[in-house]
Amino acid sequence: PSASKGNALDDQMAQACSRPPSSPARTMSPQILDNALGAVGHTPLIRLDKIAKLNGLKLGKLEYTSVGGSVKDRIAKAMVEAAEAEGKLIPGKSVVIEPTSGNTGIGLAMACAIKGYSVIITMPNKMSLEKEAALRALGAEVIRTPTEAAWDSPESHIGSRPYDLSGCFANNPLAHELTTGPEIIEAVVSTPSTPAHLSSGKVDVLVAGAGTGGTITGISRAIKKTHNKDCVVVGADPRGSILALPAELNNEDEGLPYVVEGIGYDFIPDVLSREANDIDVWIKTSDEDSFPAVQMIMRNEGLLVGGSSGSSLSAALQWLKGDEGKHIAETPGKNVVVVLPDGIRNYMSKSWFLKIAMEAEPTPLAKTIKDILHPV
Ligand code: PMP
Repeated sequence: PSASKGNALDDQMAQACSRPPSSPARTMSPQILDNALGAVGHTPLIRLDKIAKLNGLKLGKLEYTSVGGSVKDRIAKAMVEAAEAEGKLIPGKSVVIEPTSGNTGIGLAMACAIKGYSVIITMPNKMSLEKEAALRALGAEVIRTPTEAAWDSPESHIGSRPYDLSGCFANNPLAHELTTGPEIIEAVVSTPSTPAHLSSGKVDVLVAGAGTGGTITGISRAIKKTHNKDCVVVGADPRGSILALPAELNNEDEGLPYVVEGIGYDFIPDVLSREANDIDVWIKTSDEDSFPAVQMIMRNEGLLVGGSSGSSLSAALQWLKGDEGKHIAETPGKNVVVVLPDGIRNYMSKSWFLKIAMEAEPTPLAKTIKDILHPV
């Protein structure tokens, strides 16, 4: 039908296009950008209405719409720009080396492709082939390391990097304090409360997974320092990792392998602030909870998110069901925001995704139509 001409369908299409949209798009005045780095961040905050109805969850910060495909574009851009400002990078000569679960590497490789620096990425074996392919496509060299190597062993992705780049890490939480956090606050503050969508006008709860912890630490600081000091910040940490507090939460499963990528560690990264004031509550997540949560958000909200988004979502839902979250879930107008760090592009060949995609039942209507078209 999209190729047909001058028929009733075209007239309907023309009418539909001239009607005001039922879901107005983000208002961003169109501009010509100098390069792809101008399209880092500025991600939408989206109502998760169907999930909200059931659980009190409200809003998802959709980071896969950032140009490199994840929340980590922001720190990659900040690190490269900071290193340039300090005169540390020389086009055609400098080599940027970074241990990563992939997304920071993709952001760095993108920035370095634009600016003319070489990139070497060290990345554990468990990380997806899609990430390696994206990295190589952007011109990076990728060195795989054993997933099970302890972080400080010379074989690990962190231990094997030849130079210490830790001086750049301070830009990690800061990038989120200056961009991700303010974007969330601005979207919540500038969207009026309506009878259909009551809003407290504040970010009441923020849920995010932690890998380096830069995302959750930076967003928390932005919210608590400038907007709502009482916001409850909930961290998601996979079973097997040791980031959660109190530490007993981690004891039972320490070292347990898990499939979700990008969150959890076997050491406490410097940039993760575990001060009680920055992160109020930790929730342990698992592959078993995370992947169904990915399926739920895909099916109900049409968002093609990655595995760690399922972890954040499952942590949010666990917290909202528990004693602490219940009153918030039951109070209309509370804004509960979940960070959705990347998209399914990174995981298309992973068996967990193929399972939820290929084995899923079609929606009832799609099934009925299929039966009409192809009666059995
Ligand atoms: N999810 C994914 C897919 C990631 O790549 C990362 C980055 N490691 C995170 C979540 C966690 O972000 P952060 O390192 O800022 O804690």
